[in-house]
Amino acid sequence: MDKDDNHNQFTRPLLHAIQEASPDGILVVDRHSQVISYNQRFLEVWQIEQKSRPDDQTAYPHLPEEPLLDSALRKLKDPDAFLQRIQELYDNPELHDHTEIELTDGRTLDRHSTGLFDDQNNYLGRVWFFRDITRQKLNEALLQDLAWRDQLTGVMARGYFLERAEEELQRTQRYGHTPALIMLDVDHFKQVNDRYGHYAGDRVLVMLCRRWLDTLRNNDLLGRIGGEEFTILLPQSDLQTALQTAERVRSITENQSVHSDGIDINCTVSCGVTMLDNNQNDSINDALKRADNALYSAKKLGRNRVEQFRRVTDN
Ligand code: GH3
Ligand code: MG
Ligand code: MG
Repeated sequence: MDKDDNHNQFTRPLLHAIQEASPDGILVVDRHSQVISYNQRFLEVWQIEQKSRPDDQTAYPHLPEEPLLDSALRKLKDPDAFLQRIQELYDNPELHDHTEIELTDGRTLDRHSTGLFDDQNNYLGRVWFFRDITRQKLNEALLQDLAWRDQLTGVMARGYFLERAEEELQRTQRYGHTPALIMLDVDHFKQVNDRYGHYAGDRVLVMLCRRWLDTLRNNDLLGRIGGEEFTILLPQSDLQTALQTAERVRSITENQSVHSDGIDINCTVSCGVTMLDNNQNDSINDALKRADNALYSAKKLGRNRVEQFRRVTDN
């Protein structure tokens, strides 16, 4: 046995063992794009029946590519894009590929592929790595959801609302839209808690948000800015429309009691309204202060009412 044979005898099983130890599904094709090797994980990731795999642990099974490709294509949400990219990669051995692919069963696979070359830069084939990243994608989506949603009411959380409102303000300054901001504060909410308990208070906040959302347009943003304080951003509005919207919100709050544990709870809300200014250097913070100022007037003038921001003039 010469040195090369000895080398091969040692490296082939070793390479096979490394391939089987990989957390990724691995598929290797030769320079004619024929499948020459794949690992067990590859079959698991693609959920391919294992019937044709020989028992011989050291041999790389030589499978015709078609059945593998066929069963992969059947599982893809976008088989055309997949096929097109595969062809592109086979036609261009030097290309690397890293992308996420979506399967019809809801899973997401991470796909890496790179061309294989020997020391003289001769093209040998291509290796594909597939990893199931469904759990990771779900966690990402969950975290995103947690970040933007207020946990009690499901409306936008303060930080997310402010981010979105800032985007709207920038759009305003670019395109001349006129958004309006309404700040709402539930009246005497402490009394609701004192009289009916904190849990009932929570139910009231949830129900109020639902009703307000029902009366708002799809583009309008509703955020919870503090305990029983909320903000609404109307992306394209004028003062008249904003005052009417606030009045609608005020009126449904007053006229529809909230049912909790067999008790009807009545409450009211005060609203402060301001326009976002596209001519000056307005900011969301300044607009919030103006809306809060108008809200304060509504509280002072007896609550359960809508007030607009008025600049205090010297004369
Ligand atoms: P005003 O009309 O002046 O706004 O009176 P108020 O009682 O609503 O105002 P105050 O700021 O004194 O009290 C707000 C209350 O809201 C106190 C607090 O316990 C309650 N609150 C804040 N967040 C929550 C919540 O998530 N759930 C419940 N149940 N109560 C909350
Ligand atoms: Mg308050
Ligand atoms: Mg209040």
